[in-house]
Amino acid sequence: DVLVRIEHLRKYFPVKEGFMSVKNVQAVEDVSFAIKEGETLGLVGESGCGKTTLGRTILRLHEPTSGKIYYRDKDITKGRMLPYRRKMQIIFQDPSASLDPRKTVSDIVGEAIDIHKLASSKAERSERVQELMKLVGLNSEHCCRYPHEFSGGQQQRIGIARALAVQPEFIVCDEPISALDVSIQSQIVNMLEDMQHDLGLTYLFIAHDLSVVRHISNRIGVMYLGNLVELAESRELNKNPLHPYTKTLLSAVPVPDPVKSRSRKRIILEGDIPSPMNPPSGCRFHTRCPYATARCKEEAPAFRELSPNHFAACHIL
Ligand code: SF4
Repeated sequence: DVLVRIEHLRKYFPVKEGFMSVKNVQAVEDVSFAIKEGETLGLVGESGCGKTTLGRTILRLHEPTSGKIYYRDKDITKGRMLPYRRKMQIIFQDPSASLDPRKTVSDIVGEAIDIHKLASSKAERSERVQELMKLVGLNSEHCCRYPHEFSGGQQQRIGIARALAVQPEFIVCDEPISALDVSIQSQIVNMLEDMQHDLGLTYLFIAHDLSVVRHISNRIGVMYLGNLVELAESRELNKNPLHPYTKTLLSAVPVPDPVKSRSRKRIILEGDIPSPMNPPSGCRFHTRCPYATARCKEEAPAFRELSPNHFAACHIL
């Protein structure tokens, strides 16, 4: 029941350095995982760690540098993507930037219906758009309005309606709530959960905030500087984090209990995240890891299964 699988996926962006030389930004480096049908895989890490690039590369919005992408066991790394565009959709981070301001909501949501020829008449198309508006909690009579006439939360609902218009199976949710007001965030998360339940959707849910991801995800992957450093079931990762970087992220998640919160020690990492154009040798985390040894500087740790379904990449584990 694996829906999406990636193997040793890499995405490099060439950048001109000076007159003659070209260097690569190694945004995604050798990432492998599988997403089961109906599950939510959360992906977390600091901004610039490659999680958004990874999500877009899986959808082939960026062409992979190397590695493989499988959809229901079919290799989709190369060749025409149109047949899979319908099955694999994306919800963008910034709804106002992702909606064309010159188009009405009806045109924005209906465009995908037209491309994939999912309505046989204008009336059927209009009916479908209205159904989708209702599904995401918007007034179907507002189909003729333009994006700027809606609030940020409503614009994100339009973005979700657009993704759902083609009846997808898999959706990359790329930080779908981080640009929204805190009061709206939980409404959107709850709606995504309800839709997953009702429509049998599978999500790759990308966020920099671990507290959001652990609420919605069945499993969580942690990324650092293009590498996947830990992957486990959500409860297991929260109870028993193994990788030093995951421990740092978890220590920053607020705890509602004031007594527990006072006794908890926040781990602060030294230094800035290195440039993906010049990543550190060996373990990419060694420049900031409090446990780094000489071996860490020379040898990249293997991503291993350390207990059932719990994977991490670290020499000291
Ligand atoms: Fe830290 Fe070394 Fe483990 Fe990397 S391999 S996380 S540097 S201890």
